[in-house]
Amino acid sequence: MKYVLKSILVIMALSLSITTAAAHKEAAKHKSDGKAKAKTKAKAKKTRKTKKAKAVPARVLFEKMTKAADVPPQSFGSYAKGCFAGGQQLAINGPAWQVMRLSRNRNWGTPRIVAYIEKLARDTKAKDGWPGLLVGDMSQPRGGPVSGHASHQVGLDTDIWLRPSPDRRLSLAERESLNSISVLTKNKKKINPDIWKPAYLKLYRRAVSYKEVGLIFVNPVIKRRLCKDAGKDRKWLRKVRPWRGHYSHFHVRLICAKGDKQCKNQPKMAAGDGCGADLAKWFKPKKKKKKGFKFKFVPKKEMTLAGLPRACRRVLKQ
Ligand SMILES: [Zn+2]
Repeated sequence: MKYVLKSILVIMALSLSITTAAAHKEAAKHKSDGKAKAKTKAKAKKTRKTKKAKAVPARVLFEKMTKAADVPPQSFGSYAKGCFAGGQQLAINGPAWQVMRLSRNRNWGTPRIVAYIEKLARDTKAKDGWPGLLVGDMSQPRGGPVSGHASHQVGLDTDIWLRPSPDRRLSLAERESLNSISVLTKNKKKINPDIWKPAYLKLYRRAVSYKEVGLIFVNPVIKRRLCKDAGKDRKWLRKVRPWRGHYSHFHVRLICAKGDKQCKNQPKMAAGDGCGADLAKWFKPKKKKKKGFKFKFVPKKEMTLAGLPRACRRVLKQ
């Protein structure tokens, strides 16, 4: 009897220890399962966060840059997909220019475009009788995508207003409120004879006269007028390219600097003065839309850092 009792006790102890071990094992498994779950959760959170960061428009990141990247000047990418380092700020007042819309902080560019504006302003005042330039948007301190423009990203573009500078220094408030003037009629189909002066032709011709200029964009109606008035000297007209808008300002684009390896020039332009078929295309009557056609507005996705050259990430950190 004593022996039987002992055996029962041993069996009970054994089964208890087995159950405890199993319980421990189960608990450990739960713990590791929990850990793995937490790990996956954290990973998913991180991925969500990176995805979100990646989805931030590059424009927002570049708008935050208030100063230039203090390194030698270099442009990265193309005019409509890029950025630049080593930027310079155009002085807001010069002997022959004033910068407009100062609150935007867009009077930055590579030293070449800054030098170009200063030179054009001085030359056109001294030689063409233009009273002085009102300078519109150039680039942000480090370039990148900028609201209201497709290009202006690599520090090689600038807008020049068609409103001549008044013969006095504009106040900061006036630089925000004063608008440029259009040289076209209200329906934008013709040149406004009350506004247009021969000095405009001189200004446009001067603007493209420097070898660093790739092109300028002007409204097709303006190009048509320049083609008509240019006379025998027509070579310069090649760099005057028709584009929509551009009736109250013109846009100057410099070519990439020699040796600036990551700067992407735009394709070469066709030979000739561009006053023929190329210009006529702009005046062809538009095709009528089919009946029942409904225009569906699809908002364009903003460019993220992933869409810009890799070097632009570095430019943001410099
Ligand atoms: Zn422009």
